[in-house]
Amino acid sequence: MHNKLKSAADCTGCMACANACPLGCIDFVQKTDGFLYPQIDEERCVHCGKCAEVCHRRMAGSLPIQTVAAHHREPERRLEASSGGIFSLLAGEILKRGGAVYGAAFAEDFSVAHCRIDRAEHLSRLLGSKYVQSHVGYTYREVKKDLKEGRAVLFSGTPCQIFGLKSFLGETYEGLICVEVICHGVPSPGIWSKYFADVREELGEEITRVNFRDKSTGWHNFSLGIYGQTQSKVEPSSKNLYMRLFLGNHILRSSCYRCEYATAERNADITLGDCWGNEAICPTLSAEGGISVVILNTEKGRSLYESVSDRLCAAKASLKTVIRYNKSFLTSPSASGIRADLEGLAERPVAAWSVTTTRKDRLTSLIRRVYNKLYIELALIFRLNKKG
Ligand SMILES: Cc1cc2nc3c(=O)[nH]c(=O)nc-3n(C[C@H](O)[C@H](O)[C@H](O)COP(=O)(O)OP(=O)(O)OC[C@H]3O[C@@H](n4cnc5c(N)ncnc54)[C@H](O)[C@@H]3O)c2cc1C
Repeated sequence: MHNKLKSAADCTGCMACANACPLGCIDFVQKTDGFLYPQIDEERCVHCGKCAEVCHRRMAGSLPIQTVAAHHREPERRLEASSGGIFSLLAGEILKRGGAVYGAAFAEDFSVAHCRIDRAEHLSRLLGSKYVQSHVGYTYREVKKDLKEGRAVLFSGTPCQIFGLKSFLGETYEGLICVEVICHGVPSPGIWSKYFADVREELGEEITRVNFRDKSTGWHNFSLGIYGQTQSKVEPSSKNLYMRLFLGNHILRSSCYRCEYATAERNADITLGDCWGNEAICPTLSAEGGISVVILNTEKGRSLYESVSDRLCAAKASLKTVIRYNKSFLTSPSASGIRADLEGLAERPVAAWSVTTTRKDRLTSLIRRVYNKLYIELALIFRLNKKG
């Protein structure tokens, strides 16, 4: 057996390998681009091949069966969430049934890691998008334990994390429901922690709250809000340096630029995203506070969604129109010149960071956008033609 994992350029950081290693000899270490990568302790490795097996597994996904645009009935719940607050309803239902919910939460130092909750009063920790790659740790092992004990489990994360979990489990469990976000790509934890430390210094006090989707400036024009006891920095994402680096595709993981999971077949039961293009997709729904797009990929996903439908406002949506407004569902972002120098960026002080792009970057991005547009139209014709 061999223990050959994917190359660093293709590794998504899903951590299935570390979860699968029976001897615990795979560590995750931060490289100079600020992302975590697996490192095998060759002295202790017995070459059982379990890590390579989960890393390279092939799995068939499911084509969407139904698409809706929806938002939580309660406006306060929408404000706590990134789009329409649908995740909180789904997670709340699983908790009500005595199950466990896994998702991304802030740690004390505002780094981001996956955690497990089993009580409704802890749900707020998982709400809202954190635009940093979340550290999965050994949560897949905890999920397996919960499932073996007969507990219902909702696991949420990026499409590559859902793949990682399912690959680690290696078999299907009736009690497991997976909810993924439509993913633009995950930004570097190292770059985030440097930016965060810089803002803390600027505000001159400890940070008490971070909101990547502060809706005080609107759902479409959301801000990044970083709050201390007395001071705060709240900037629209179009102006904020960190968000411009993220949304301009400058600080994403290498594997995000060729995402294997941005495909018509999904590994999750439910896919959640922002219902961008809501005026065309669901003109009857109020956009105040945000609207989610809910893509139901399996009957299990549909059944969970239906069980919370009395607590939301919804409208039928066309998957084709949703995808035309939300290209991340099917395509990868285009890389920029700054990404190639992420190591350099991490070493420079934040004041010297810049998001200026070269003419070559702009040309590459234009070619990529045209390619993505064509790819999407072809996928809609050949893969999703009968899906609305
Ligand atoms: C990195 C990232 C990129 C995204 N890109 C897009 C996009 O291009 N287009 C789009 O329509 N939507 C995107 N989303 C999803 C969107 O921001 C909302 O999360 C989604 O619409 C669900 O919103 P909600 O209101 O139902 O629930 P919310 O309460 O906002 O969602 C919370 C859920 O997001 C998960 N989550 C939060 N942060 C992370 C993280 N760092 N890693 C893994 N899971 C996380 C939590 O586990 C929880 O399940 C992205 C989310 C993330 C985290």
